[in-house]
Amino acid sequence: MRPFKYSTTNDINVAVKMLQVKGHAKLLGGGTNILDLMKEDVEHPEELIDITGLSYTQIKSISSGPNAEGISIGALCKNTDTANDPIIRQNFPLVAQAILAGASAQIRNMATNGGNLNQRTRCSYFYDIAMPCNKREPGAGCAAIEGINKMHAIFGWSKDCVAVHPSDLCVALVALDAIVKVMGAGGKERLIQFSDYHRLPGTDPQKDNNLQQEEIITEIQLPKNNFASKSYYLKVRDRSSYAFALVSVAAAIEMAGNQIKQVRIAMGGVSHKPWRAYEAEQFLINKTPDEANFNLAAELEMRNAKPLKHNKFKVELGIRTMVRALTQAMNGGKHT
Ligand code: SF4
Repeated sequence: MRPFKYSTTNDINVAVKMLQVKGHAKLLGGGTNILDLMKEDVEHPEELIDITGLSYTQIKSISSGPNAEGISIGALCKNTDTANDPIIRQNFPLVAQAILAGASAQIRNMATNGGNLNQRTRCSYFYDIAMPCNKREPGAGCAAIEGINKMHAIFGWSKDCVAVHPSDLCVALVALDAIVKVMGAGGKERLIQFSDYHRLPGTDPQKDNNLQQEEIITEIQLPKNNFASKSYYLKVRDRSSYAFALVSVAAAIEMAGNQIKQVRIAMGGVSHKPWRAYEAEQFLINKTPDEANFNLAAELEMRNAKPLKHNKFKVELGIRTMVRALTQAMNGGKHT
């Protein structure tokens, strides 16, 4: 690991200012990704700004504003504390399930929610500094596009990058229409719809998200919903723990009588950003929640997939995972 300067502050305005004036500085929260990246020489910030002393660790109700009656989750709250929080477990079980499907218990104990959003792809070529990678070094090329791309994207990729976003939590958050609250220069706050937070790779895959260099995530807001009794996060992976998704699906359903009133479906392991399955959702509105309709919805969504040489299996796997996640959501999250 290269030498770097270590700073710490308990004042978010100071942290924002430091990011603003020090272009080569990075934030240190749980450190579960940035330190790995530094050890592998993938990233080499000149300075780490330790923000673990900031106060954004609470999970609380929102009393006013556009998301009144929703929940605010602090960016520095640990993943484990979020998954174990009684309000989250009761009202947003999809979030707890997604967190518990990710990483190991030790990593979840350290990792923060803000860091989870900003973690970088686990594309093996990104971590191998001997291989060309546009995300690591713009203009270098993409080793994955003609390489071993089993774990890579089937939606929204570009010729410059076919990586996927690795988070489980983010798949649940995009399904629940979460909002990311950030603090920028001069104390200016802004709210970003979760679906607009992460980016597709396009021609500049070095940018994972739409955060400005000096902005810091302070909260994730979850609007009130009626999905708690019918939601499920299903992750399919090569082994049962500490593995990234081949495909995952967050499914949430609200019924009106015998018909689907609202449904949310998001996928992980398929794109550079958590992938919202809007076509499948649209199809299911006002339909009966049976296997035939779930299959038609999943096939509709997956017909737009553009698999690579080694990940064609993700198309069929995506259909089956979506159908099963929707079925288990209807069943109150219990296995059928
Ligand atoms: Fe780099 Fe993206 Fe290509 Fe992986 S897929 S090698 S992250 S450019």
